[in-house]
Amino acid sequence: MYIDIAVGLVIGFAVSFFTGEASLSLIAFGVFATLVPDLDFLVWLARNKWQIGRFSHEHRDIFHLPLPVGIGGGALIAFLDPILGLVWCLGTLAHFVHDTLDGGWGIQWFFPVYRGYFTLVPYSPKRYIRDREEQRELAIIHGTPHWTDWNHGASWNVKFLTQLGVLGIVLIVFVILFLVSLWA
Ligand SMILES: [Zn+2]
Repeated sequence: MYIDIAVGLVIGFAVSFFTGEASLSLIAFGVFATLVPDLDFLVWLARNKWQIGRFSHEHRDIFHLPLPVGIGGGALIAFLDPILGLVWCLGTLAHFVHDTLDGGWGIQWFFPVYRGYFTLVPYSPKRYIRDREEQRELAIIHGTPHWTDWNHGASWNVKFLTQLGVLGIVLIVFVILFLVSLWA
């Protein structure tokens, strides 16, 4: 998550720099774009009684979709503002690249054309995973490396909720900054 924030700052700053539209709001929007895909974790948690488990990676099936969310979302936003569309596209794609390299069991890079998952995480014996069934088999056999203490209940939930709280605060601050700058 902290890497995503840093990457978002860089993307916002770089686009500001190259388009001559140096603005705090653009940088804030960069951070927002690199964090926003993980909001699907909230949706997933709500559906799963707020319990983290072996299959927590499945939250990625909701928003972690580069073609519709990254490219499609960017194109939609570009109709309103091309530069914001570009930042959205770069930010969300950077998040998906990060998640391909780190944590979980892959990203559906070509959804909805092809529904397989692609991953470069070192602990995965496979680089591409056919479908959710195969993903579950891998998670059962090889565990959940990034959720090592998922079965330790309370302590893990505190750790997780703290991260979620930080993410929430960062998102709220940046949304406020962004909205304020729109009217400024
Ligand atoms: Zn993610």
